[in-house]
Amino acid sequence: MANLTCPNCDAEMQKNEDADMTTDECASCGGVFLQRGELNALATGMSGDIEYCSVTSGFVESTLPARACPGCGHEPMEKINLLRLSDLIFDYCPECGGFFLNKDEIEQMNEELRRLAPDQKAQEYRGHHDGHLVRIDRTSDIYATDYLGWGRAKTRGFIRVSAFFREPMPPGIRVFHERWPIRLTKGLGLFWGQDILTGDKRFDSEFRVQGENPESVARYLDPAARAALLSFVRIGPSILGKQGSLEVTSSAVVYVEGPYDPNSPEDVVGRAGRIIELLVNIANKVEAIPE
Ligand SMILES: [Zn+2]
Ligand SMILES: [Zn+2]
Repeated sequence: MANLTCPNCDAEMQKNEDADMTTDECASCGGVFLQRGELNALATGMSGDIEYCSVTSGFVESTLPARACPGCGHEPMEKINLLRLSDLIFDYCPECGGFFLNKDEIEQMNEELRRLAPDQKAQEYRGHHDGHLVRIDRTSDIYATDYLGWGRAKTRGFIRVSAFFREPMPPGIRVFHERWPIRLTKGLGLFWGQDILTGDKRFDSEFRVQGENPESVARYLDPAARAALLSFVRIGPSILGKQGSLEVTSSAVVYVEGPYDPNSPEDVVGRAGRIIELLVNIANKVEAIPE
């Protein structure tokens, strides 16, 4: 693909081929264009689909200059506020799902996410399996050991293993199975569409399926994809012998396990092999849509 033109300063952007993703960067002003899914892949320490959550919290009015999308030419890009919680405003393209970030905003985003989950450790692992980017992060959650208001905040850790799709699905699809009643997407003010039934009784009793478009959900959740998801639940794999929950977002298949003591030095990556294998299998089945 030809080099893109920076929407901020009109310089020619350069392809930056990282080990696992190609981004377009402007050497002149430091701006970066991220295709759909890449912002999630660069975010550390937060569960859930940050792109989707940020976009569905609405576009914001801004006096910042309007920009055209360097990826697809759509004009103007919309301004969105990262998770509606921070001061960071990004340009978002509703046409191709890309984001344009100014210099240093990836670092600022991860600082914001660290502020939201202060004890999180760095990303543990990043690698390619069967063409899928797989990441393992430790994320943390704060809770109060509250007793009549005299509690103190404690932190519990979670392990998140994500297998990203090669091609993200259309936004607004979510499939999840929860073994424990903790909302992983805590406090993000999510809007999720209606529950959708696939008509497969066994599947519908194990998983909740939500989406804006029942037809496209049905295409991704074909019998092979449903079987892969059900077999994960039946096997009930674990990394540290804790409980886990499985979720399919439009960008990745995500397994979260916990809680465990975030300060204990566990060999999370060494024990995650089986989980990675199963998640990659699910990702392969979900993204293979029959014509
Ligand atoms: Zn530039
Ligand atoms: Zn675009």
